[in-house]
Amino acid sequence: MSVYLDYNATTPIDPRVLDAMIDAYQNTPGNADSRTHDFGDSARKKVEAGRKQVADLIGVSSDEVFFTSGATESNNIAIQGLLDYAQTSGKKHIITTAIEHKAVLNTAKYLSEKKAFKVDFVNPDQSGRISAEEVISLVREDTLLVSVMHVNNETGIIQPVKEIGERLSDIGVLFHIDATQSCGKLIDELRTLKYEMLSFSAHKFRGPQGIGALILRRKNYKLPPVTNVYYGGHQENGIRPGTTPVALVVGMGKACEIAVSENIENEQKNKAIKEEIIRLLVESGVKYELNGDQDYCVDSTINICFDDVSSEALMLLTKQLCALSNGSACTSKSYDPSYVLAAMGIPTEKIENSVRVSWGPGVEEKDVVNNFASLLEMTKSLAI
Ligand code: PMP
Repeated sequence: MSVYLDYNATTPIDPRVLDAMIDAYQNTPGNADSRTHDFGDSARKKVEAGRKQVADLIGVSSDEVFFTSGATESNNIAIQGLLDYAQTSGKKHIITTAIEHKAVLNTAKYLSEKKAFKVDFVNPDQSGRISAEEVISLVREDTLLVSVMHVNNETGIIQPVKEIGERLSDIGVLFHIDATQSCGKLIDELRTLKYEMLSFSAHKFRGPQGIGALILRRKNYKLPPVTNVYYGGHQENGIRPGTTPVALVVGMGKACEIAVSENIENEQKNKAIKEEIIRLLVESGVKYELNGDQDYCVDSTINICFDDVSSEALMLLTKQLCALSNGSACTSKSYDPSYVLAAMGIPTEKIENSVRVSWGPGVEEKDVVNNFASLLEMTKSLAI
């Protein structure tokens, strides 16, 4: 059977998360905002319990957690929600990176093309990392926002958001972090970061699809100047109106709780799998390179360029062994050479030969070893 090694696209829901959600669907029929009956009260209690579990994972307080439909929406609200403040403050300059997810990239492009913002896109070097120094050097009088992802979804490279956050907090510039690929994984590091806004989705760490959160940090009790981009009810402080999906919140909360309690074990397993993949690569005699500096890479992702082997052909031929990807799922429906690898200065021929392998809790090391070894054997037949 094929081993699912595309965790950076989405992860299989944890059965304990599913159980908690089924219980909520079956036994909590109320609307969390209904004040007139007990069904509403018990739904509200579940939502607030879920919010607390999310807050505990991130290391913030519950009133800094705002539920959304996922990271795409969180990123949009975090950035577009600053439009009013940009008008009143006259600050219309944004700094971001060329390797962000499209939810950040395209939002920044929209502001630049339609709302007269100036946007600087910082490129990484071959290591896959951007330079904190370069980001800070671009800050101007009218800089509204800096938005940088914590971990890149294609390469797994950890960006210097710790350093950037510290420098920006000294000079008082708003900082948004897209933590979609680190949330539930780099738990300790995430808790020490300085930022005003942080986005993520539950389905990247074995929670349900269709829910995520935007964290808005309070300073002297005040939230960052994000205003609503939708009009509707007062749910989530008006930041994200619409009926709160109780069972999804329960599922996300449970996934957060599990991520915290099993963090050390998950880290060890992820690391062991990565070591095995590298061992197999080395021993196979296949010619390859790893994209990005592995000293900065998470233990749950590896991006491999196989010399003279087309990634499309490789993935097609070895489908029954491993589920891999090239590019992110959001762009991989039609094949376009990865803009992330291109921004790192990797030539197109090498990008076309690169695949992303990503894993996490639920993946068994022995399955990876068996199937990846067979995949490498098949790879040899494809080299031109
Ligand atoms: N940011 C990053 C870094 C991601 O990897 C993803 C998902 N690929 C997103 C944002 C968007 O998440 P979602 O599709 O859950 O909205």
